Amino acid sequence: MSEPTTIVVIGAGIIGLTTSLRLLSTLNRDKFRILVVSREWPTSIPGAPIKHSVNYASMWAGAHVRPIPASTPQLAREARWLKYTAQVFEEQLRNTPSIGVTRCKGIELLEAPPAEYEQQTAESFYSESGLKSYRKFDSMELSGDVQLGYEYDTYCINAPVYCANLLRSFIVQGGQCIQRDLTSEREASSIAQNVGLVINASGMGFGDEKCYPIRGQTVLTDFSGATKTVTKQSKDGSWSFIIPRFFDGGTVIGGTKEPRNYAIEPLLSTRESLLSEGSKIAGIATDLSGSSGNPKVIADIVGRRPMREGGMRVEIEQCNNTARDAQNIGTPIVHAYGAGGRGFELSWGIAAEVADLVETVLVVKDSFIPSKL
Ligand SMILES: Cc1cc2nc3c(=O)[nH]c(=O)nc-3n(C[C@H](O)[C@H](O)[C@H](O)COP(=O)(O)OP(=O)(O)OC[C@H]3O[C@@H](n4cnc5c(N)ncnc54)[C@H](O)[C@@H]3O)c2cc1C
Repeated sequence: MSEPTTIVVIGAGIIGLTTSLRLLSTLNRDKFRILVVSREWPTSIPGAPIKHSVNYASMWAGAHVRPIPASTPQLAREARWLKYTAQVFEEQLRNTPSIGVTRCKGIELLEAPPAEYEQQTAESFYSESGLKSYRKFDSMELSGDVQLGYEYDTYCINAPVYCANLLRSFIVQGGQCIQRDLTSEREASSIAQNVGLVINASGMGFGDEKCYPIRGQTVLTDFSGATKTVTKQSKDGSWSFIIPRFFDGGTVIGGTKEPRNYAIEPLLSTRESLLSEGSKIAGIATDLSGSSGNPKVIADIVGRRPMREGGMRVEIEQCNNTARDAQNIGTPIVHAYGAGGRGFELSWGIAAEVADLVETVLVVKDSFIPSKL
């Protein structure tokens, strides 16, 4: 039998991990092996034993699933990814309940709702997201400056636990890993024997001028009793959210969205305002009556959402056959980076699309089972 072709996946964030698992389930394992190469790797206990950098977005995500009305072609594309991802979360809850996903209520409160939110109905919400039980609040249920409120069935993900479980699943199914800090995606093609294709799931890409970070500061607290995820969009453009991190992960109270702010350290003044705004919606997040008290701070979190102007890059970079013969310089690349603030909720849809692109590149019709998307 001939040597298997190696597919190198750069990145062990949510996009690299889901893509690698998807490829393991679709590729003929006698012909292909999947190798993840990454600078940073998941651990499920924040801060121990490795301190992750702010650039490793997947360790810092809340993370909840929040559909956005599909009012532009880009948002419509993302809605399709989200809908498929929600189906996978539901399957995982059935088959692997300890993976790190929890079903819960999501609540949205908007002080200045854009028209596309006002026009949303239970039918349009379900058709775009596949999420059930959408209900618009009547005016008696709204308080303060909130003009629109609604709830729906959704999911929260304990991001570090979930990523650690995905990595474990990848390894026990025969996937391989190497720790390496690459200088470019091209370097990945010389990392192993017989590399046939590289997938660039590096979060921010390598020198793509369209990419920039959106800084997020949140507070991980011991606030107990939160069973719903609540998000408030204020008319001044600020956000306040509560995300229960089930599986003993505390509760995330957030958060900021600061494009191109490169500050690494958390600001105490931001922590205080996040906790103060969070206390206004904390009661809605819990089924318990009475005050939620003053939650203890477990950690201040700063992470960088890997944003890209025009949306995520999911495409093949065509190779030059002549160059390919010379030292793998032309090994084809499938790019999958720039997920911004939505990597978890879009992850399995993206992974399915990347796997389809891989199929196109490798032209191995007989080796694949049909796409599930
Ligand atoms: C505060 C905050 C809250 C968020 N909340 C949510 C939420 O509620 N829901 C949601 O869906 N999303 C949320 N996100 C966004 C989500 O975290 C990101 O979209 C997602 O993690 C991006 O995943 P990724 O795999 O593309 O990138 P990353 O997680 O950044 O992973 C990139 C990987 O590539 C590796 N890598 C990078 N460069 C190199 C190199 N040169 N050599 C080798 N390896 C390299 C890294 O080590 C890492 O393993 C949030 C993010 C933040 C910061």
